[in-house]
Amino acid sequence: MDFISLGNANDIGASCHYLGINGTGIVLDAGADPNEDGPATLPDFVPIINREINHAFITHAHHDHIGSLPALNEKWPMARLHLTPATRTLSTSMLYASARLQQRKFDEGTSPFRALFDKEDLDDVFDAFRAHPYDEWFDLQPGHTRTKFYYSGHLLGATGVLLDTEDGRRIFYTSDTCVQDQTIVPGGSYPSEPVDVLIMESTLGADPVAETITRAQEEIRFGERLAAVLKRGGTVLIPVFMLGRAQEILALLGRYKSRGIIDPETPIYSAGGLREVSRVYDDCADSTPRIDSDFKVYGVKQRQFPRSHKARRKALNQPGIHVLASGMMIERTLSHQVAQELLEDEKHAIFFVGFAKEDLPAGKLLHAAQSGAEGVLLSRERGMQKIVCEVDRFRFSGHANRQDLTKLAVQLQPKTIILVHGETRARQWLATTLREKCPNARVLTPGQGELFTI
Ligand SMILES: [Zn+2]
Ligand SMILES: [Zn+2]
Repeated sequence: MDFISLGNANDIGASCHYLGINGTGIVLDAGADPNEDGPATLPDFVPIINREINHAFITHAHHDHIGSLPALNEKWPMARLHLTPATRTLSTSMLYASARLQQRKFDEGTSPFRALFDKEDLDDVFDAFRAHPYDEWFDLQPGHTRTKFYYSGHLLGATGVLLDTEDGRRIFYTSDTCVQDQTIVPGGSYPSEPVDVLIMESTLGADPVAETITRAQEEIRFGERLAAVLKRGGTVLIPVFMLGRAQEILALLGRYKSRGIIDPETPIYSAGGLREVSRVYDDCADSTPRIDSDFKVYGVKQRQFPRSHKARRKALNQPGIHVLASGMMIERTLSHQVAQELLEDEKHAIFFVGFAKEDLPAGKLLHAAQSGAEGVLLSRERGMQKIVCEVDRFRFSGHANRQDLTKLAVQLQPKTIILVHGETRARQWLATTLREKCPNARVLTPGQGELFTI
């Protein structure tokens, strides 16, 4: 078996890996790097350019796992793209949204790059989609490698992939995985029998705090802080990623209301693409793993965040909660605009609920607030602003912490462990730990384009 990582291996970049199994070419995810722009977002296909790709597995609809599907499809139009039904629905709307955003950025002059794909390219991608349910074997070619999807716990529709090859080898790719329950989606499920090769994500490998904080404790602290801000007449901005975190947070707010932790009459505002994703969550409630299959995201009363300036000012001037994209507060998104409105008033709060990359506005603000800096520059037009409002971060990750990942690896007894999807430090911590805990396993931390024959 040949393995090559095609995305940036030393960061959470474009997730994309090649597997060559007995003459069959397989790609695991075809993501784009959210930290880059234009062609630099794509994985490097050069190491496999002379190989055939017959199949790709698309494990979930986050951009870092689907963003280069059009490029993959253009190079290997015959490749079948396997995914779950929910990932098919979500990927369709996420990719259309990405095409529109790229086009807009080029038209406005904020990006020098033309959109990498358009609607027509996407129609070809969607034609190659093949949806499969969880927990049922399907054959890639009759009599050859067969495959089973294991719900991965990370997000609606997310899946791990088990490959059972014709020569009896079992390969398991965790993709992004979360062992513990979130608010809507339960923790992942995994093969019960040992595997030969484990390809595992490493996102939280360098995060010692993640394993010390339980979700239950964090839910209590978050509820208390929200209640305190609302009580003093403030309004709260929660910047969120539109797919996954937004719906989980809305569910949590619904829970706080039903338990009287926050006033049930508190207005909750949401906007844009995340509302469309919430609808997909609700449509799939009966057909995807849920903690409570009766729960609906739209069962949590929400108002549309107003478009006019006047109505916005009114909404922000009364106690309320605003669940708005983007999670990183990328410039000119709603969360970026609203943060600037709230920053200089002590009664308001900005609460982060996910990862905040340091060089993007969310990370800059969080870093400035935590280090006691007086001000922060969120936009050039507005200039330096004082940080007067409350700024805090709550940990509601959709990724397994490093202890959970270690336990999973030990349980699956692999002969080879390939660590992917994590910064260098994260993969190194896991590699060191796993070499100790799984002494018979070969542990690999592949660099981009590096070929391993296993
Ligand atoms: Zn993900
Ligand atoms: Zn990912």
